[in-house]
Amino acid sequence: MSELSLERGLNALRAEIDAPVAAFFSSCVHCGLCAEACLFYVETGDPKYTPITKLEPLRRVWEAEFTLFGRLKGLFGLNKKVTDEMLAEWEPLLYDSCSMCARCSMVCPVGNDIQYMIRKTREGMVAAGHAPEGLITAAARAVRTGSPMGLKWKTLQVQIDHVEASSGLQVPVDAEGADYLVMLSSMEIINFPEYLEAITKIFDHAGVSWTLSTDCYEATNAGIQIGNKDIAATLVQRIVDAAVKLKVKNVISPECGHAYTAVRWEGPNLIGKSYPFRVFHIIEVLEELRASGRIKTEGKEMDRLSLHDPCNLARKSGVIQQQRNLMDLVADNFVDLKEHGRYQWCCGAGGGVSSNERAAELKMTAFKRKKAQIEEVAPERMVTMCATCRTQLEEGLEDFNMDIPVVGLTEMIAEHLVEKNGDRKQ
Ligand code: SF4
Ligand code: SF4
Repeated sequence: MSELSLERGLNALRAEIDAPVAAFFSSCVHCGLCAEACLFYVETGDPKYTPITKLEPLRRVWEAEFTLFGRLKGLFGLNKKVTDEMLAEWEPLLYDSCSMCARCSMVCPVGNDIQYMIRKTREGMVAAGHAPEGLITAAARAVRTGSPMGLKWKTLQVQIDHVEASSGLQVPVDAEGADYLVMLSSMEIINFPEYLEAITKIFDHAGVSWTLSTDCYEATNAGIQIGNKDIAATLVQRIVDAAVKLKVKNVISPECGHAYTAVRWEGPNLIGKSYPFRVFHIIEVLEELRASGRIKTEGKEMDRLSLHDPCNLARKSGVIQQQRNLMDLVADNFVDLKEHGRYQWCCGAGGGVSSNERAAELKMTAFKRKKAQIEEVAPERMVTMCATCRTQLEEGLEDFNMDIPVVGLTEMIAEHLVEKNGDRKQ
């Protein structure tokens, strides 16, 4: 990397240092609780994977340039400088060994938001040219085409045609004034097209007006994953433009955890203005429909089922009881994992880890935490509501020879709908 890109990275790190960052580094009491909360550290036992270690590039810039002690050390040439070699060494720590699950932030006794600091450090890394190839490519594609996998509308149209043929229902497209604009993720389009069929059936059943948009149909936010606010803002703005153009009242995020927090919580700050619509996860919408009696189901799953709470939904957004109410609707033999809801362990694939081939082995090592949790309650099937978590659960369980299928909660609800005329489904 050139001097210029290193300087760009250092400038980006400097720009990230604000009062909360200074408070963080000053208030850390080195208790180690965050380490015990991090699946990458717990499953490897390697001290380099402790959350606080991952922040070293940002900490060095803070100490050298924002503290009296650091400036004094600088006068005597005693500062440890952030160099290009250091950033190269830290790149795997920041991108491969952090799913931005925020479990470390939750346990910190002095309230340090470590995963947010990881994001800030990634801003400097990417500006200096240090990010995994997979994420760089995904972010560039997302800016160019709107989809991190470069999926075009015609790919989605094929799925729509399948859904319409198999359900006998119409999938609304570019319907102005609909109540809900439904966004998808690449993984739902490619790996889990049954999700689109499920919402088509449920919304028809409940009489919900909704639409897809040909202008913007993916909400995965590669800018958040790589650590670039400008890219993140560009991707959020596309959703806003599509929603405004169609005059919808609400936007439904895809079943992708980071897309949800990006568009729901971070979007207005990223684009510098509030939305003229509201944002929900599909699980929140389904729970609202259930609570108001608009979802009628019949029959229950008798298998022993357990639930994986996506970090972005449960820990970061407090959507915890909603999925359990929905499980109650269709499951007769549900058992929670021992640590669940806010306290659940990450699957290990979020924060761009799953798009980063280099991290594949470490991702599976980290999955051992989820595997151990699942073994404790021995379910016959796992249920979740995030496409990234679902893919990781499927791959992980297969890798460890555990014959436990994974199903999406939305699809499970759709399976149990009573037909609109009251007939039982065939
Ligand atoms: S956010 Fe999650 S993966 Fe990242 S350091 Fe914290 S606990 Fe570990
Ligand atoms: S839990 Fe908080 S105070 Fe303890 S080591 Fe981690 S960041 Fe520092």
